[in-house]
Amino acid sequence: MAAQGQWMMDIPYGCQCIDDADVAAVVAALRSDWLTTGPKVAEFEEVFADFTGAKHAVAVSSGTAALHAAMHAIDIGPGDEVIVPPMTFAATANCVVYQGGKPVFVDVDSDTLLIDPDRIEEKITPATKAIIAVDYAGQPCNYERLRAIARKHNLALVADGCHALGAEYKGQRVGALADMTVFSFHPVKHITTGEGGMITTDNPILAERMRVFRNHGITTDHRQREEQGSWCYEMVELGYNYRITDFQCALGVSQFNKLPKWLARRREIAGIYDAAFEAFPYVKSLSVSKEVLHAYHLYVVRIMDTEPSRNRKAVFKRLREKGIGVNVHYLPVHLHSFYKKRFHTGAGLCPVAEQAYDHILSLPMFPKLKSYEQEYVIKTMKDIWS
Ligand SMILES: *Cc1c(COP(=O)(O)O)cnc(C)c1O
Repeated sequence: MAAQGQWMMDIPYGCQCIDDADVAAVVAALRSDWLTTGPKVAEFEEVFADFTGAKHAVAVSSGTAALHAAMHAIDIGPGDEVIVPPMTFAATANCVVYQGGKPVFVDVDSDTLLIDPDRIEEKITPATKAIIAVDYAGQPCNYERLRAIARKHNLALVADGCHALGAEYKGQRVGALADMTVFSFHPVKHITTGEGGMITTDNPILAERMRVFRNHGITTDHRQREEQGSWCYEMVELGYNYRITDFQCALGVSQFNKLPKWLARRREIAGIYDAAFEAFPYVKSLSVSKEVLHAYHLYVVRIMDTEPSRNRKAVFKRLREKGIGVNVHYLPVHLHSFYKKRFHTGAGLCPVAEQAYDHILSLPMFPKLKSYEQEYVIKTMKDIWS
């Protein structure tokens, strides 16, 4: 806590940007005839598909709902295994469990903390149905390798792109690199709708299944309605209410206008951190492949000092005390007590992720971050080792 009367920084690790245009867009939607599924949902989907280069985009109520819809669309069920990395938010693996399947954890690469393609094939069994790749921190995975493995073993490739809106792999945007790609519009992500999510795909059958799934499994087959009466609808499979509202999508469309500017700002902030930490022997930024354009949802460093007064735990505490909202992304998913109990996972399963977990720290990274705030973050870290 700050001493009485002392000026104090209070910088979060991530933060949304809402401007007057966003507010006006939401207000206009609230005053329209549509509160839930209406024209803004379709518009948001169209803008999103255009930007990512995917043929279809399906908007849902959260990134987690998007992951669940993707698992449903490829019929993940009891007995099925899905390969997932441990260095992610729990929802990436939870969506497999929702469907009764089993997440199989494959360790990450030590330089990037992205799923290690060299370790995937040894975990493939006759029960394996899909791979979920996570573009951790905003860096796309090696999709060429992942697609080759998926093709060879006849697996679906799903990308969890929740960190990577606007990122590119070999000149192609995240959203058009896998069979399906999932995004989140939680306030810490690149654009926000409060809560919200999207799935992109080139496959019209998968897109339609997800549209039905988000609406209780109910079809709106127009031909059937014409033949049997306009009151007629049919629930063809078990779905959920994963719809997103029209006013949320109005916000999404408005936020989208700012995305290019925000991506540029995130990359600028990353460049300043990169340059600053080059001179810090104990602070190592994650490696970035030359084949990608990073979207920097997170800026993750590794604190390599093991001295108890300057290790990650100590640095975390020190920065928090100084009003800097650092965070740790993530406790490897296989170490959560739920996974230990249900799937008998535990320490030793993914040693690279487990080792990284002791060192990683996410620094403030969001477009509104002021230059003097970033300088304060760097200076505060520098002081730890001087
Ligand atoms: C945010 C996030 C999710 C979940 O998205 P919600 O919109 O919060 O449900 C899933 N995976 C990753 C990697 C995320 O960062």
